[in-house]
Amino acid sequence: MGAFAYVAPSSVAEALAVLDEHASLGKRAQVLAGGTDVLVQMRTVDTQPRTLVDIKGVAETNRVDIGVTETFIGAAIPSAVLNDNAELKALFPGVIESADLIGSTQIQGRASIGGNLCNSSPAGDTIPALIASSGVCVIAARGGNREVPVEDFVSGVGTNVLEPNEFLIGIKFPNPAPGTADAYLRFIPRTEMDIAVVGAGVSVTIDENGTCTAARVAIGAVAPTVLLVTRASDALVGTQLDDTALEAAGVACTEAASPISDKRGTVEYRLKVVAVLCRRATAIARDRAKVREGTK
Ligand SMILES: Cc1cc2nc3c(=O)[nH]c(=O)nc-3n(C[C@H](O)[C@H](O)[C@H](O)COP(=O)(O)OP(=O)(O)OC[C@H]3O[C@@H](n4cnc5c(N)ncnc54)[C@H](O)[C@@H]3O)c2cc1C
Repeated sequence: MGAFAYVAPSSVAEALAVLDEHASLGKRAQVLAGGTDVLVQMRTVDTQPRTLVDIKGVAETNRVDIGVTETFIGAAIPSAVLNDNAELKALFPGVIESADLIGSTQIQGRASIGGNLCNSSPAGDTIPALIASSGVCVIAARGGNREVPVEDFVSGVGTNVLEPNEFLIGIKFPNPAPGTADAYLRFIPRTEMDIAVVGAGVSVTIDENGTCTAARVAIGAVAPTVLLVTRASDALVGTQLDDTALEAAGVACTEAASPISDKRGTVEYRLKVVAVLCRRATAIARDRAKVREGTK
């Protein structure tokens, strides 16, 4: 591991000042949350010196705020803490199940959804779920916070729209409308502790007749960035979310995907599995939505 300095600011302003100072001096600073990606990378692929800016002591990044119309989840909250939040689980079961899939119990004691998103891996488990639930990134920046929908945040493999003097404070979501529910599924070759071969996050809204009135489908690990597949949503809206509709949404996901072959799966395999996961995640979201709508 290369040399590094460490600072632990206690406010957004302090964190921004450190990042800003480093950016203006051309010195490298890197935000640290749980460190479950950063420390692995520092020991292997990225050993260059830097200042680690630990944002876990910044109150806003640890805040959960469930409001009347909106919910905010701080970027640095460990997934173990999120998994224990029954209210969040009830509102956004798909988001919380995606956080619950990260690593092991030990990893979840540190790993945050902010870190998962900012690491910006195509296979990051929370990203499809955050997109499906219409998450919006709240970014601390000079001159005030700015907001970016999660689907526009990641710009490539391991890259995102954050400037060197910015950091993610958290993610906000519109509270699910009546008859709305989400779900996340991933496929890995082992039972746990592996990177997704494919992931699928789905949110659907149904009315009192069981007709789908809104849908968002996002797929991971099948393109350089997680994709919001609007043609899959189009295939679901206006239907009863029956097998025919689910099949059409799965086909749309396969058509949108542009995966690579690697040791975890071939292109052909991923193209098949993405359709299967889309169908299954949609069925789970539909059944949850029916319970919420009171039609099941
Ligand atoms: C054994 C093991 C198993 C794993 N299993 C999984 C898995 O199943 N699924 C999965 O998706 N991932 C997995 N991971 C990867 C990792 O645990 C997750 O990506 C985790 O969510 C990262 O969160 P963190 O808080 O540890 O981020 P960190 O390591 O602290 O940061 C990750 C990246 O995001 C940046 N960053 C963090 N927070 C912010 C912020 N608020 N603002 C700006 N930049 C920020 C950092 O600079 C860094 O580039 C695993 C890792 C290990 C070591």
